[in-house]
This record gives sequence, C-alpha cells and structure tokens, in this order.
Amino acid sequence: MPHESTPAPGTAATAPVFSPALTPEEGHTAATTLFREVFGTEPDGVWYAPGRVNIMGEHTDYNGGLALPIALPHRAHLALRRREDRTIRLVSPQTRETVDVLDLDAIGPKGTPGEVRHWNAYVAGVAWALEQDGLGPLTGFDAALYSCVPLGGGLSSSAALEASTCVALDEVCGLGLAGTAQEPDDAGRARLVRSCVRAENEMAGAPTGGMDQSASLRCHEGHALGLDCRTGETTQVPFDLAPAGLALLVIDTRAKHSLVDGQYGARRAACERSAKVLGVQLLADIDVNGLDHALARLAACGEDSAAELVMRTRHVVTEIDRTRRLIALLQEGRPLAGDTLAQVGALLNGSHDSLRDDYECTCPELDLAVEAARAAGAHGARMTGGGFGGSAIALVDADKVDEVARAVVAAYAEAGFTPPAFLNAVPSAPAGRLA
Ligand code: ADP
Ligand code: MG
Repeated sequence: MPHESTPAPGTAATAPVFSPALTPEEGHTAATTLFREVFGTEPDGVWYAPGRVNIMGEHTDYNGGLALPIALPHRAHLALRRREDRTIRLVSPQTRETVDVLDLDAIGPKGTPGEVRHWNAYVAGVAWALEQDGLGPLTGFDAALYSCVPLGGGLSSSAALEASTCVALDEVCGLGLAGTAQEPDDAGRARLVRSCVRAENEMAGAPTGGMDQSASLRCHEGHALGLDCRTGETTQVPFDLAPAGLALLVIDTRAKHSLVDGQYGARRAACERSAKVLGVQLLADIDVNGLDHALARLAACGEDSAAELVMRTRHVVTEIDRTRRLIALLQEGRPLAGDTLAQVGALLNGSHDSLRDDYECTCPELDLAVEAARAAGAHGARMTGGGFGGSAIALVDADKVDEVARAVVAAYAEAGFTPPAFLNAVPSAPAGRLA
C-alpha cells in the first residue's frame, strides 16, 4: 500500500513521501493476476473507479448545497467474473488474506441477520442495493480488488469500491446505465449513484451524502464536478491545472482523532435544528444576502445552543456562497493567474478558516498543514472532506510542489506529529472499464 514506505514517527522525516497512482496497465495487471491466482480462471474484465478530493463545498451536501469535487488518478481496480448462481466471492489482500463467500439472497442491511462485514459491505452491498432499487435481477460474481486510493484518508476509498462494482455489474449483467468513461451516460450514472449511496448508508452504516459516489461516477478529466447536492444536477467546471503551471497537492495528515466520534452527527443535528428554527427545509434555502438576518434570529431563539447554531449556519451559508463563486470564476475560463488565481486562493483560504472557526471540524494536524503550505507559497489551502483528520489540499505552482511538501513535513516534525503522506491530485476520468 502507498503508506508503507512512510517513515515511522520519530525517525528523520525530511523527504516528503508521495503515494503514486497505479497506471492503468499496472492496475489491470495487479487485479487480473490476483483474480487468476485466487479463482483459477480469467475475469470477464477489469473495471476501475477513482477516489476523489473536494475542491470546495464542505459539509454542504446534507444541507442541500453545492460541492466541487475532482476524480483522482488513484483508483480501485476490480477484476470481476459473472457467475451463473447467486454466490459472491471477494478478495482484497490489502486488508485480509481470506476469500469471503456471500449469498446475494441472504445479505441485508447493517443490524439485520444478513449484515455484511467490513469492506464486503461496499461491494456486495452495491449488488444488493441495485436489486433493491429495481435494477436487477443480477447474478453472483467473483471479484478481486486492488486499490491505490489511500484507505480512510478522506479521499473516498469506499466510494471507489462501490463505483467500480457498479460499473462492472452494469456491464456484465447488462443494466446498460453507465456508458463508458469516454462516453458516459450521465443520467444512467446518476441512478447508479443512488444505489451506491444506499449501499454505503444501509449496508455499511455510514450516513454520507452522495458527493463521493457522484465524483467517482460523474467527474470528467480536466474538470471539477459542480454538484447541486439537493437536485443531483451537475456542471462540468474546467479545472485543468497543468497548462496553468499549477498543481493541487493533497496532504494526508494521517491523523485519527477517536474522541470525535459522533461529531459528524452532532454537526448534522445542529444544521437540522437551525433549519427548523429558521423555518426552511434545508440551510441551502438561506440566501447569503439574508444571512445576517437569519443569524440574528438564531441568536435570539432562546435555546442553550443558540451560539452554536449561529456558527454552524454561518459556515454552511458562506461555504455554499464560496462554492458558487468559485464555480462562476472557473466557468469564466480566464487563465488561472494574477488576480483570478488570487481570488481562487482567497476562496480556498476562506473555506478553511470557516471550517476551523465556525464549524470547528479541523484539528491541529489539518491547521498546521494549511498554515505551513500557505507560508511556503501556496496560493490557497484548506482542509477537505469531513475533517477531524483526513486530508488538506494546497493549490501551488507546479514547480513548488516539492518545496511546499517539504515545508509541511518539517512543520510536522517540529510539532512531533506523525509524518504526513502526499499525493498529486490531477483531475481525472470517471469510473469505467480498462481495455
Ligand atoms: P475513505 O472512504 O475516506 O477512504 P471510509 O472509512 O469511508 O474512508 O472507507 C474506508 C473503508 O473502505 C475501509 O475501512 C475498508 O473497509 C474499505 N476499503 C477501501 N479500500 C479498500 C481496499 N483496497 N481493500 C479492502 N477494503 C477497502
Ligand atoms: Mg468513504
């Protein structure tokens, strides 16, 4: 796995360690070789799906707002062969040595007798969800997984599993919804997103919105995906960094804060409470021009948590506005330089500061990564994903990637933090089949 070569805490940590993306050929070979070894036959094909990183729009999805993810070049690769019966056999040596055997007729949601354990929930769960959503009947299948999306780093390794499974099943079971990565059927993919989200929510028990799955299935190369999380409507937003001499550095803090379990639920609950007090369905209904008025109403609502509701609401409404402004700026198509670049950087920085101060979902490792990157010349930097750990992004000149990464490594060493990992986030293609 990419993290294995990262130096242990306390050892000299000067050179940044980058997690490389497998090339399509490497991914094909790794998944096919594994499939042959384990199942003793040839797969029908190898399908892949990318992890994602969100450029802007954090904690906006469950509030019906906007997000702006890109697909990473880091992908889950799934070699799969359709079976005639209803058995599912799965192997991923990156987490466990064993082959797991499941019955598509016996599996069911978390907390029921058919509960599916660990990562199997993301793969078998998709087959279950597709059938529940009326897209079956499917058949069983054998599948071997090889992924280079860092696990649990906030880069959606879980959605990559779901999306690779559903494009594979779409083809071998003849659902006809996905199209190809080169010519995607976007409406069909929007339906597949719903089944992937259902698998994650009901089978894995993770209460996430649809941003991760949408990114993996609906992003285009060289673009970010402007996603309206309420309607599922998308816009392809030009975000080709290399021609502008820019790069997007992802800093995986590798921080895990166990004390924050339940904080995600607490943030969601605060947003729902605010919406109720303000008499709207979702916080996305609050226009940024009416924010002061809304905040005054929350402050005067008489609840003990009034101050908290003010802060959470201010983040959500301003974050949706920042995302709208960033999308508009990128859509103008002006070169990412000078004043335009400065505006993009300011929006990224504003997002982080709001997440740190109003949403209180950063952590010392995220704040330090962002500060160090900015001090080393990043045009803008922010945490990305749910927070409390996970990853940060920094928009940097392409020739300064190493310098900025080194500055973050040095700052972490000085603070005594576990060394971070890095990856280069190039806006890449959505889930599809490898030739
Ligand atoms: P993230 O999606 O941000 O990486 P999650 O906690 O949502 O974090 O998903 C991580 C989980 O996805 C892992 O705990 C594991 O169950 C599953 N997973 C991801 N990649 C793999 C893999 N290569 N092999 C097996 N399981 C994986
Ligand atoms: Mg996930």
